[in-house]
Amino acid sequence: MADCIFCKIVAGEIPSDRVHEDPTCIAFRDIQPQAPVHILVVPRQHLARISEMTPQHEPLVGHLFHVATEIARQEGVSDQGYRLVINCGAHGQQAVDHLHVHLLGGRQMTWPPG
Ligand code: 5GP
Ligand code: ZN
Repeated sequence: MADCIFCKIVAGEIPSDRVHEDPTCIAFRDIQPQAPVHILVVPRQHLARISEMTPQHEPLVGHLFHVATEIARQEGVSDQGYRLVINCGAHGQQAVDHLHVHLLGGRQMTWPPG
């Protein structure tokens, strides 16, 4: 997608602080971190939102979550816990229309979310 900021990050056209890459996804630190650990796990393939998921995306979405748990371990937040978030659409306050999983950790989260 020509105008997609995360497609540009995947392609290396926009720099990012990468913590993981594999043939399916990359992960990089959020530019405006909301927690001491705030990492985005992003598929290389452009899929605008989780609501566009079909059965064929099940392995992809499963992989994103597995990678997020591995990065949480790598970042040292696994034992104390963390939050994995996917924002979807307007009410979900999704700002970038390219599927991504937020890994947030390193501080106490609150519930309900804002
Ligand atoms: P959303 O609201 O779509 O779930 O989250 C988008 C996230 O992407 C936000 O947390 C925002 O800070 C992050 N973000 C937006 N543009 C960039 C960028 O150019 N680089 C990085 N590293 N993060 C970005
Ligand atoms: Zn994209």
